[in-house]
Amino acid sequence: MTRTGTGCIDRPSPNHGPRPEGVGVELLILHYTGMPTAESALSRLCEPAAQVSAHYTVDEDGTVYAHVPEDRRAWHAGLSSWRGRADVNSRSIGIEIVNPGHEFGYRPFPAVQMAAVADLCLDIMGRHGIAPADVLGHSDIAPARKEDPGELFDWPGLAARGIGLWPQPTAVDNSPVDSAESAEDVAALLGRYGYDTAESRVLLSFQRHFHPERLTGEPDPETLRRLRALLRMTGR
Ligand SMILES: [Zn+2]
Repeated sequence: MTRTGTGCIDRPSPNHGPRPEGVGVELLILHYTGMPTAESALSRLCEPAAQVSAHYTVDEDGTVYAHVPEDRRAWHAGLSSWRGRADVNSRSIGIEIVNPGHEFGYRPFPAVQMAAVADLCLDIMGRHGIAPADVLGHSDIAPARKEDPGELFDWPGLAARGIGLWPQPTAVDNSPVDSAESAEDVAALLGRYGYDTAESRVLLSFQRHFHPERLTGEPDPETLRRLRALLRMTGR
C-alpha cells in the first residue's frame, strides 16, 4: 500500500483497474457506506460480483481499512460529473465512511470517526496536492442518484482543518434580486461552481452539503448567499 499512516488495516478489494494514461488524482470523494453494518459494507466492497470498491473505508471507531492502492482506479463514484468532466473515478480517490445511511437508519458520525477521516484526508491531499475545494461528497458529483455522505456529515469541522470548503458569506454575497432570481440564474451559478445542472436535485444536493439546515430544494436567500460565497472564495 502507498499509505504510510498508522492504524490502517489491509483489506484488499479486487474491484479496480488502471487509471487512464496521464490522468492524475485531482478530487477526493467522500461517501457513506449506506449498509446496515460495517462488516456488510466491507464484504461488499471486496466482493468481485459487486463491482464496487473504494480506496479506503473508515469505521465508526476510527479504524481505517485500505482496499485499493491509490494509483489504481477504484469503482466508487459511478456515473458522475464535476466541472464539466465525467468519469470521476479516473481522477479521484474515494473514501467510504461507515454509516447506515438514509436507507438503514442515518445517524451522526462519531467524533472519533471524523477525526480519523480528517487525518486520512489530509494525508491523501498532501501526497496528491488536492486543494480544499476539490474535496466533495458523492451527492455533489451524482446529485440525481446519491445523498451521501448526507446532511449530518460534519463538513464545517473538516473545513476548519482545511478539508473541503465551507462558505463564509459576507455582505458582498447578498443580492438585492434574491427573491426575483430565476431558476435559470440559480442553475447557472450551480453549474459555475461545478455541478452538472443537467441532473435533477442539484440545488437539493448543494443544500445537503452546504446548507444542511434547509433541505428544501428551493433557492432561499441564505442558500444563494452561500453559493455566491463559494464562487467568490474559489474565483469561479
Ligand atoms: Zn457513495
